[in-house]
Amino acid sequence: MAIQSVNPVNGKMIKKYSSHTPAQVLKKIGQTHKAWQSWKLTTLQERAACLKNISSVLYKQRDELAKLMALEMGKPLKAGIAEIEKCAVACDYYAQHSEEFLKDEFIKTDASKSFATFEPLGVVLAIMPWNFPFWQVFRFLAPALMAGNCGLLKHASNVPGCALAIENIINEAGLPKFVFQTLLISGEEVASVIENPMIKAVTLTGSTEAGMKVASKAASLIKKTVLELGGSDPYIILEDADLELAATTCVESRLINSGQSCIAAKRFIPVKAIEKEFIALFKEKMLAKVMGDPLEEGTDIGPQARADLRDQLHEQVTKSIEAGAKCIIGGKVPAGKNAFYPPTILTNIKKGMPAFDEELFGPVASIIPAKNEEEAIKIANDSTFGLGAAVFTRDLKRGEGIAKQLDAGSCFINELVKSDPRLPFGGIKQSGYGRELGSFGIREFVNIKTIYVK
Ligand code: NDP
Repeated sequence: MAIQSVNPVNGKMIKKYSSHTPAQVLKKIGQTHKAWQSWKLTTLQERAACLKNISSVLYKQRDELAKLMALEMGKPLKAGIAEIEKCAVACDYYAQHSEEFLKDEFIKTDASKSFATFEPLGVVLAIMPWNFPFWQVFRFLAPALMAGNCGLLKHASNVPGCALAIENIINEAGLPKFVFQTLLISGEEVASVIENPMIKAVTLTGSTEAGMKVASKAASLIKKTVLELGGSDPYIILEDADLELAATTCVESRLINSGQSCIAAKRFIPVKAIEKEFIALFKEKMLAKVMGDPLEEGTDIGPQARADLRDQLHEQVTKSIEAGAKCIIGGKVPAGKNAFYPPTILTNIKKGMPAFDEELFGPVASIIPAKNEEEAIKIANDSTFGLGAAVFTRDLKRGEGIAKQLDAGSCFINELVKSDPRLPFGGIKQSGYGRELGSFGIREFVNIKTIYVK
């Protein structure tokens, strides 16, 4: 079977790739497992040198990789360039800090010496989405390689060019052959890969549905998983907020990656006292964003990654409107064979509507006003998701107090939720479990071995 990449700007096929056959997949798993036998014996200094090389290759290929993303999934060029730079920064960061994250931890007991040591698990299967086709992979790969693991990537089927480009980057950086490989396979073929005894753990970033299937399979074989799934991040705007800053940040977050980010702001909860003023500012700033060809310099919002995903988003908007939501801007599918969707604002949102209950993975904002702080927290937590959250207030102590009451994996005050190689990243509830990044992330795929000397 072939995997195709299609340009979401015009629906035209870019390239067809032959899928790997089951025999090829088996061979690749074996090769990467074999590569791991040597990779696990390398020193942290040797691994760090490899990561620094990867970083250099990323910087060198930055512009062409950004263009590849623009063509395969519609990411505006400037955002693509920023994404590649972020991958390079992450490689440099783990090259520099992994020794500190992975050093033996001595613990006083009645032994003459007792400590925890961190050993690699082996080949980790990474199932990754199309929305940040490089960052999602490097966020896993940089710490995993430093910890002494090897990786196999099953990337989303609409970004095969990016998937193969990552394999090329690793090879060009001069890493030992096969420590990382891409598998061009469908979602249905993943189960048999997980079953292979040479696969030791699985990480998935994507929808909750895919997470449930992959985690069930892995659990049936007692294989560790990390799941980074969807979100419906609430942003609370209090009466003492800097409204200009809040509206600018909220729009920026909602429209990150043309609205297709797990940690984009999705539900906006202004308190009554500033509701009207906030909505007016928010609307003005949403309307100022330019939607267009991702290859054009001035474009803020490209098309959605696939026409079917855009149609799914529009259905969520339509159903919410039929149930009583009011659409104050956007909400219309542009004519022609493309995957564009305009910035859209919905108000009059009630529980039971898709705009309240579900993740809207596109440039659609749900505004849900609250009477006061207490009600705002209640609305924010009234979600099956728990990835990120943000609070806007000039009173930083108050902000911190609210952050502690929000059901989320991260909570930002007066700033949009973002991932940072230095900070742990992940969710609770249906947004997943486990952490990526930081010292917590690098220790997800290790054997925390206790050594006790009498
Ligand atoms: P999916 O969750 O379907 O895809 C993510 C990855 O999982 C892809 O590599 C996909 O492969 C793979 N996959 C899907 N189903 C299975 C399965 N049963 N077993 C193994 N692997 C599987 O996301 P979509 O592309 O369909 O996007 C749909 C929704 O997912 C979005 O609207 C959004 O809510 C959410 N999403 C969340 C992301 C996040 O960052 N948290 C990122 C992307 C999507 P393949 O492409 O071959 O199906």
